[in-house]
Amino acid sequence: MSDIIYRYKDNVYLNITNKCPCRCTFCIRNTEDAIGDAENLWLSKEPSLEEIYQAIDAYDFTGCTGVVFCGYGEPVMALDNLIAVSHYIKEKYGFHVRVNTNGLGDLIHKRSIAKELCEAVDSISISMNTPDAKSYNEVVRPAYGEKSFDAMLKFAQDCRKYLDDVRFTVVSVIGEEAIEKCRKLADSLGVPFRVRQYSE
Ligand code: SF4
Repeated sequence: MSDIIYRYKDNVYLNITNKCPCRCTFCIRNTEDAIGDAENLWLSKEPSLEEIYQAIDAYDFTGCTGVVFCGYGEPVMALDNLIAVSHYIKEKYGFHVRVNTNGLGDLIHKRSIAKELCEAVDSISISMNTPDAKSYNEVVRPAYGEKSFDAMLKFAQDCRKYLDDVRFTVVSVIGEEAIEKCRKLADSLGVPFRVRQYSE
């Protein structure tokens, strides 16, 4: 049994794809099959829009404070479904919707996706991961190589044009020195910055 929807703390998470163009050294997919109350976040197949709607409508959202697109894959790999599902959740259930992304959507889709994504969700968290392109390539190992870090930074700046609640995130395990470099870079680009724990 695989989970399209699962809960972790106060949020409900949507696992709408297992596709991702990265191979992050720290990716939880490398070591666990699930997080939160999920049993298995490896999908037997990529879910259709109808299957995602069915999973949502069957779910008990009691006590939920928000919905987050974040699972065992990069959510914008399923961009059309993400946008449709976000509108569905907001209109039918009234939840605040966030997407956690690696920020490489423009490279994935070979066009700028900032505007359409920002019009669909309430909040975007973009994983900066490291403070420079060299370390980013070593840690994130993106399929697009060298240009990925700058594309991720530009994507964040583009999103800020359309949506207030856009932020960079790093995981606390990268250490204080790297965190401060990332913070300075985020400040210089005018994008809010948040340090999160590994499991968030
Ligand atoms: S971008 Fe996310 S899903 Fe993809 S490898 Fe990195 S941590 Fe895993």
